[in-house]
Amino acid sequence: MKDIIVGIDLGTTNSEVAVLEDGKARVIAQGESLILPSFVGLDDNGEILVGEAARNQYQVYPERTIKSIKRQMGSDVRLSLGGKSYSPPEISAIILKKLKLMAEEHLGRSVKKAVITVPAYFSDAQRQATRDAGEVAGLEVVKIINEPTAAALSYESDHEGSKRILVYDLGGGTFDVSVVEIEDDIIEVVSSHGNNRLGGDDFDRKVVDHLLEHLQENQGVEPGELTAQAMARLDRAAEAAKRTLSDHPFARIEEEYLHERDGVPVHLSLELSRSDYEAMISPFVDETLQAVHTALNGADLTVSDIEEVLLVGGATRTPLVQRLLHEEFGSQPRCEVNPDLCVATGAAIQAGMIAGEKVAAVLVDITPYTFGTSSFHELDGRPYPYYFVPIIAKNTPIPVTKSEVFYTMHDNQEEVIVNIYQGENPDALQNIKIGEFIIKGLSKVPAGNEIINQCSLDSDGILHVTAREKKTGLEKKISIDNALSHFDEAGLAQAKGRIDSLFHPDEMTFEGEAVSVGDGREGEHRDIVQARAVVEKAERMLDDASAEDREEMVDLIEAINDALSEGDMPGLETPLEELSEILFYLEG
Ligand code: AMP
Repeated sequence: MKDIIVGIDLGTTNSEVAVLEDGKARVIAQGESLILPSFVGLDDNGEILVGEAARNQYQVYPERTIKSIKRQMGSDVRLSLGGKSYSPPEISAIILKKLKLMAEEHLGRSVKKAVITVPAYFSDAQRQATRDAGEVAGLEVVKIINEPTAAALSYESDHEGSKRILVYDLGGGTFDVSVVEIEDDIIEVVSSHGNNRLGGDDFDRKVVDHLLEHLQENQGVEPGELTAQAMARLDRAAEAAKRTLSDHPFARIEEEYLHERDGVPVHLSLELSRSDYEAMISPFVDETLQAVHTALNGADLTVSDIEEVLLVGGATRTPLVQRLLHEEFGSQPRCEVNPDLCVATGAAIQAGMIAGEKVAAVLVDITPYTFGTSSFHELDGRPYPYYFVPIIAKNTPIPVTKSEVFYTMHDNQEEVIVNIYQGENPDALQNIKIGEFIIKGLSKVPAGNEIINQCSLDSDGILHVTAREKKTGLEKKISIDNALSHFDEAGLAQAKGRIDSLFHPDEMTFEGEAVSVGDGREGEHRDIVQARAVVEKAERMLDDASAEDREEMVDLIEAINDALSEGDMPGLETPLEELSEILFYLEG
C-alpha cells in the first residue's frame, strides 16, 4: 500500500489536517469541528490537553496553557509546562501529534508523512524548527510549502496558463498578504508583507473594550473588578457577536450573572450594530490595505496587475474587509473555498501531487447568483427607488443565512413591499425579480423604523426570505423554490417582458423607438422609472410641505410630467434634480 501523505496547516490560532480522498481534498474533523485550536495545556490532573479543551482553560489557567507557539518557532526560548521545560518545536509537535492521531483515526491506518505549510516570510531557522516539530511528532516532513501557495492550490490546482493573484490572509493573530504568480503548474510567491501582531483577535478586543465601557457607564463596574472567568465570558461573547455581525446588521450580547456588586448580580445586555462595530475596527482594516500596497510595490505591481484576490483566514469573513478589497480591486474577492480551511486543503493537494495522485479542484456548493432586494438609494448620483441591495453575494458557499437592515421612508408607514431579485446590476430593475411580498401592520412610528430582511439559501436551492420589524418582531416570510435554477435565458426574457409590461405602450416610446430593458437604453429606462418614483413620492409629501415648498413642488412635478410625455430626456434632468433636493430636505 502506498504511503499516505497528509497536508497540515499549522496555524498560530488554529490548525487543520487534510487528506486527498478520491482526488478531492478533505479536512478531517475532530468530533464536530474541522479546526483544532493551536493551544496546548495541562489539566488539573497534569494530563495533556490539546485544542478546544486547552483553549477553554486559557483565560482561567494561563500559567498552564500555551497559545500561539508558532510565534516562537525558530527562537531559543523555553516554555514551562507542569514543571518541565520545552522548546517551541516540542510544543508544536504536541499539536502535530494530535493532528496525526486525528488523521489516523479517520483513515484507519498509520500516517507517517506530511506536507506542512508556513508563512511566506518564515526564515530558514523557522522552517527548520517546523521540520523538527514534524520529526518529533513522528512525521516525515516531505515538503514545507508557503501558506499563500497552498491557498492558491486550493483554488487553482488545475490552472493552465499564467495568472497573478493576491492572497489576503487575515487570521486570528496574524495578517499576511502575498502576490502569487501561477505559471501552469508552478506557483511562486513573488512578494509578501504583513503584520504578525494583527488579526481577528484585535477585533474581539475592541468589542471587549466596548463591553467594559458599557458596564462601567451603565452599572458602575470597574474593569479591574471582574474575575478571570467573567473576562473569559466577555471574550467569548465579543467573538460570538463579531461573527454574528459578519452575517447580520445587529448582534445582541446577553451575559447573565456576569458579576456581583454589593451582593447584587450584574447582568450584561446590549446590542451592537454592524456600523458601530465597523467604526471600531476600520483602523485595523486600513492598516491591512496599506500592507497590500506595500506588497504590490515590492513586486513592482499595481492593483490593475492583479487578476484575482483570494481570501484566507477566518477574519476575512468580515464584510468591511471584503467591501474595501472590492472597492480597491474593482472585483469581488474570492472566498468560496472556506477561508479557514483552504491552506490545509492546498497542503493536501500538494501532498497528493507528491504522492502522484490525481487531483481534482476543491469544489464546494456555492450560489452562482447574487440575491437581494431593492431600496431607495443614490444611483449614478441621483436618488433611485429600485437600487439593488445584495444580501447573499454570488459565490457564497451554501447553505447560508444573511440579513441586512432597511428603514421605512415615511412617518407612520404601515407596510413595506419587499421585492426579491437575482442578479448583479445595481439597478434592481435590470435584474430578475423572483418574488415579492408585503409586510403589513408596522408600528406607527416616525420614518426610519428598522426592518430586517433575511435571506437563507439552502442546499436544495430554496430561498427563504423573511422581513421582520425589529422593534416588535412582527414578521412575514416567503419561500422561493428553485432559486438556483430559475434563471436561464428564457427566465431572463420573461422577466424583462414583465418589467416592460409595467409601462403603458405610449410611455415606452422615445423618438419613435420602444424603450425596453436591455436594448441599450437602460440609462433612459432608468431615468423614466426614477422620475416617476420621485414624482409619486413628491405627491405623497405635498400635504406635509409648507405652502411655499408645495408651490415649487407642483411646478416641478408639472415640468417632469411634461418632459416625460414629450420624451424630452435632457429636459427631465433639472426639474428632477431640484425636486429630489426638496424631498431630501423635507425628509431630513
Ligand atoms: P484563523 O486563524 O484563520 O483560523 O482565523 C481565526 C479568526 O477568524 C478569529 O479571530 C475568528 O474570530 C475569526 N473568524 C472566524 N469566523 C468569523 C466570522 N464569521 N466573522 C468574522 N471573523 C471570524
